[in-house]
Amino acid sequence: INKRKLLVAGNWKMNGTRSLVKEFIKDFDTKFLSSMDVALCPPSILIAEFSEGRIPVGAQDVSACDNGAHTGDLSVSMLNDFECKYCIVGHSERRDDHGESSELVAEKAAKLIEAGITPIICCGEPLSVREAGKVNEYVEAQLKAVFDRIPVSQLGDAVIAYEPIWAIGTGVTASPQEAQDVHAFIRQFIASYDGKLADSMQILYGGSVKPDNAKELFGQADIDGGLIGGASLKAKDFNAICQAA
Ligand code: PEP
Repeated sequence: INKRKLLVAGNWKMNGTRSLVKEFIKDFDTKFLSSMDVALCPPSILIAEFSEGRIPVGAQDVSACDNGAHTGDLSVSMLNDFECKYCIVGHSERRDDHGESSELVAEKAAKLIEAGITPIICCGEPLSVREAGKVNEYVEAQLKAVFDRIPVSQLGDAVIAYEPIWAIGTGVTASPQEAQDVHAFIRQFIASYDGKLADSMQILYGGSVKPDNAKELFGQADIDGGLIGGASLKAKDFNAICQAA
């Protein structure tokens, strides 16, 4: 199969120190940078520390506003100033901790695209929705907000991450088939807007990806890499996951 280029993106969440960044840069195997897309999203206070390495860096969130009276927030121009190539938006932890709606997530993604930064747009259902058999409807509603807000002509560089909430940080991974089924559905959903975009868009899987399950997940037809939480904190594990891609 002629698959898309794979992307492995690390999400450190609220973890890490300046010394961990130094160690990570030292231990990350840069050979992966030539054959695949790689990104590391540390807490924003550590983004500048990555300037000494070659790993493309991303943020974990951004404001939908340009500047001004928004205490604690960061703007797209600030991310550009620090050479962020990527930014995660709509992670389930932000939707839960900060009440972020799909409409706000769509605004943030639009801002990033306008600024030339690749949004990694997260979606994914809680366990109750999976048990009720409503996964596709749930994920579709999350993504529809984005596809209704941003013209397909501007979505060429966007990335989607499917992250079932019950699999995040739990050690319970979706089976490769469970993940593939939702990825295929998402690609079909994108195709309802634009067939070419559906073929080219990277759709990542996230949720307890580890060195020992990455290969099988990334081997699925519609899984184009992963968004990696816990296992991205150790360069050794992150290298092994890149190796699986
Ligand atoms: C995440 O936070 O995006 C994630 C997938 O976490 P973990 O790999 O730790 O489940």
